[in-house]
Amino acid sequence: MYKNFIFVLGPQGSGKSTQAQKLAVYLNYRFISTGEMLRSLAQKSSQSVKKVAEFMKKGELVPIEIVEEVLHTELEKSDEKGFILDGYPRSISQLQNFLAYISEKKWKLEQVFYLKVSEDECLERIQGRIKEEKRPDETVTAIKKRLEIFQNETKPLLKEYYKLGVLQEVDGQRSVEEIQKDLRGRV
Ligand code: AMP
Repeated sequence: MYKNFIFVLGPQGSGKSTQAQKLAVYLNYRFISTGEMLRSLAQKSSQSVKKVAEFMKKGELVPIEIVEEVLHTELEKSDEKGFILDGYPRSISQLQNFLAYISEKKWKLEQVFYLKVSEDECLERIQGRIKEEKRPDETVTAIKKRLEIFQNETKPLLKEYYKLGVLQEVDGQRSVEEIQKDLRGRV
């Protein structure tokens, strides 16, 4: 079955998950967060998945084979025709593998939204979240690591999306409603 994909990317604290979820509801697409998928995998008790929790706790990337296995399984058992992916791909290898995978299936990467938010603003928002202590990987060290990975491994993907002609940059320093309205106007 034919499938379309939209990626929403941005640094930690950019509000990408909130925006991606709202957009998925609007488009009637399925929202998939690889972070959420891996968090539930990490809660299982088998030895092989225990190491997943370790990577996540440190804010490091989970090995690519594990991420691809959970994501592909989910996509292949799903009947939906549209997907919004949050938190994937996060590196050049993940993007290259994903493009090869969808090309083989004759699926399509429709659009990529990049939520631009300054590092200072992100840190401020994340500090608010740390106080609420929602997630085990929201420690200062893990967050710094994740911001660093975003800069070094994920941000270089923007150039690739631009070349593919799918990139849309969005100002992420506005209200949730304003950003969402903007995104809806561009799909
Ligand atoms: P997130 O909820 O997107 O912030 O992701 C939380 C954590 O899950 C990350 O810090 C990584 O450890 C792991 N993770 C999520 N998505 C990926 C991915 N595409 N590749 C590798 N690790 C990931």
